[in-house]
Amino acid sequence: MRDTIKHQGLRNQLASILEAKGIDNTSVLNAVKKIPRHLFIDSSFESHAYQDKAFPIAADQTISHPYTVAFQSQVLDIQPDDKVLEIGTGSGYQTAVLLEMKAEVYTIERQRELFKKTSLFLPKIGYKPKRFIFGDGYIGLQEKAPFDKIIVTAGAPYVPNPLLAQLKIGGMLLIPVGEKTQIMTLFYRKSAQEFEKKELGDFKFVPMLQKKN
Ligand code: SAH
Repeated sequence: MRDTIKHQGLRNQLASILEAKGIDNTSVLNAVKKIPRHLFIDSSFESHAYQDKAFPIAADQTISHPYTVAFQSQVLDIQPDDKVLEIGTGSGYQTAVLLEMKAEVYTIERQRELFKKTSLFLPKIGYKPKRFIFGDGYIGLQEKAPFDKIIVTAGAPYVPNPLLAQLKIGGMLLIPVGEKTQIMTLFYRKSAQEFEKKELGDFKFVPMLQKKN
């Protein structure tokens, strides 16, 4: 698979589309301009890779819309060296955006097929999270907590308590909450006991699935 000047041109266009939709964080836009999104999806969809669309990946999952990825990254205001937990590695595109923004990333995926595929693919194109975890995002990653930021990229029927508990004071959890459609919800941890909650509009994600017994 190749990356060409044509792909670069399409990425610049995609970044302009995202800018027109309200993305103004330069490190998010630079990541979009840099990451070869066409390599993250099946080559039969390659011509669509730089439109603002979601696509099927393996195991009946989808790569999120570029706007959604950009929006979540912008809301979390990722800073260099932020310790970030991502739930739902999927294709790894969001992971690559976080890594381009210089975060230290721990990413969890519960579908074995996707976990295997993406944990081989991302390092091949130069993206190295601190850890790929095959596991259940509902329980988070206690052994590496607390995190500056936690991002959930699947629709959660409710807010899992372990994720709130694994935030630093001053940290943020961004999670789409709901069944059919989701409300993007931001939790800011003010103190050990207090969280501030903000709702940031409707989105549509594949469901965050409960652990199979
Ligand atoms: N950020 C990804 C989004 C993929 S879709 C991308 O842009 O490609 C959401 C992903 O969350 C899917 O890969 C799905 O398998 C995963 N997922 C669903 N429930 C999960 C859970 N409980 N724990 C971890 N991952 C989960």
